[in-house]
Amino acid sequence: MTLTEKLLARAAGKARVQPGDNLWVKADVLMTHDVCGPGTIGVFHREFGKDAKVWDRNKVVIIPDHYIFTADSLSNRNVDILRQFVRQQGIPYFYDVIDDPDGSWKFDAAQGNLKRQYGAQYAGVCHTALPAKGHTRPGEVLLGTDSHTCMAGAFNQFATGIGNTDAGFVLGTGKLLLKVPETMRFRLEGRMQPGVMAKDLILHVIGEIGFDGATYRAMQFDGPGVASLSMDDRMTVANMAIEAGGKNAIFPFDARTAEYVDARTRLNGTKSSYEPVEADAGEQFVFEMVVDLDKLEPTVACHPDPGRRKKARELGGMKLDRAYVGSCTGGKTSDFVEFARVLRGRKVVIDTFGVPATPDIVRDLQGTFWSGRTIWQHLLDAGVQMTENAGCAACLGGPVDTFGRINKAGIKCISATNRNFPGRMGNKESEVYLASPATVAASALTGCVTDPRDLLSG
Ligand code: SF4
Repeated sequence: MTLTEKLLARAAGKARVQPGDNLWVKADVLMTHDVCGPGTIGVFHREFGKDAKVWDRNKVVIIPDHYIFTADSLSNRNVDILRQFVRQQGIPYFYDVIDDPDGSWKFDAAQGNLKRQYGAQYAGVCHTALPAKGHTRPGEVLLGTDSHTCMAGAFNQFATGIGNTDAGFVLGTGKLLLKVPETMRFRLEGRMQPGVMAKDLILHVIGEIGFDGATYRAMQFDGPGVASLSMDDRMTVANMAIEAGGKNAIFPFDARTAEYVDARTRLNGTKSSYEPVEADAGEQFVFEMVVDLDKLEPTVACHPDPGRRKKARELGGMKLDRAYVGSCTGGKTSDFVEFARVLRGRKVVIDTFGVPATPDIVRDLQGTFWSGRTIWQHLLDAGVQMTENAGCAACLGGPVDTFGRINKAGIKCISATNRNFPGRMGNKESEVYLASPATVAASALTGCVTDPRDLLSG
């Protein structure tokens, strides 16, 4: 069996499964957020009764992150609905925007959107917060009401996005009927060269197979090249499996996985035991591809879909209006470090926005010094508009007052986010080009798509 088949077999209590089998799978964690949480709660109460209790309050994780820093009152109210549900149910893992469990959330537009407006419990973007807060464990099944839940496959677990109706059912029962996907194997060899990032790897893969090339399939990344990828790198890759239609992404377990998971579960006091899955000798794949990491180059996915791959060099000269670094995929500490490494001592020439995925990342950037100045200060010096209000922000557009949102037609934006279908970051007539944080930085400095290696070597 492949890694995914082994995970699903275990979660269904079966010795063997094969692609196409329909299984009742036990969930280890159900995650929801402010956009889908209220709908999921509505389904749960409708189907299980207004006084129903969730199947296991310790396995439900609620992370408001999407439409938070906006004056839109309905968006603010969604966070209040989550808080009320958490109180009724006694759910311990709720990463509220405010600290008062009886309070209500209201964004203060008068303060502007650069200065922090959240309390001590707020955790930022769900997919980045889940591992950081100790909720991703090898061998487990994580279901989330968000398509990029597949990011947790980096931790050797089965993780996939589900709809509100399914999530309402999981809240009541802890189970879900799942069809075992076929597995596509991407064998990684070698090591990425300077200036090339994990984002280039996954954009290359999606460019090879197309934005529907992995529809309802597991994407297994293995081979000797995995060892050179940090956990942040693996998260970037796994996050974008859904951009090829993948059901899930999966990485093997190794010492790096253990080091990360053990540190995070210890720090947060979450469940620390886990049982990884290992590959069988006779794995059967529906597709196999070798990716030579040494040969990868800075890559861009052109508007209007993540499969429209070009090398950054091939697009040289294409003018841009805006640059954006942020999101679960591209707003981690390591992403901002690469972004800042290219920008340091230089000035951007187009509007450039930076949105860290989590408050911890804000702290990392504000607490790490390069030559007597923090990384945060270096980014401000370069002209980047940095917000402390970590969250999804303009990755998915959001209400019109969302930081970094594209509100005008005709804007071309290069972005470290993960999705570029029309209207994704705001205006339907704008265009989004997906790239690594290093390529976004280099392009922000020149105003046109630029290979970061041209600046790093200079
Ligand atoms: S940052 Fe973007 S992709 Fe990630 S969860 Fe938020 S909206 Fe979705």
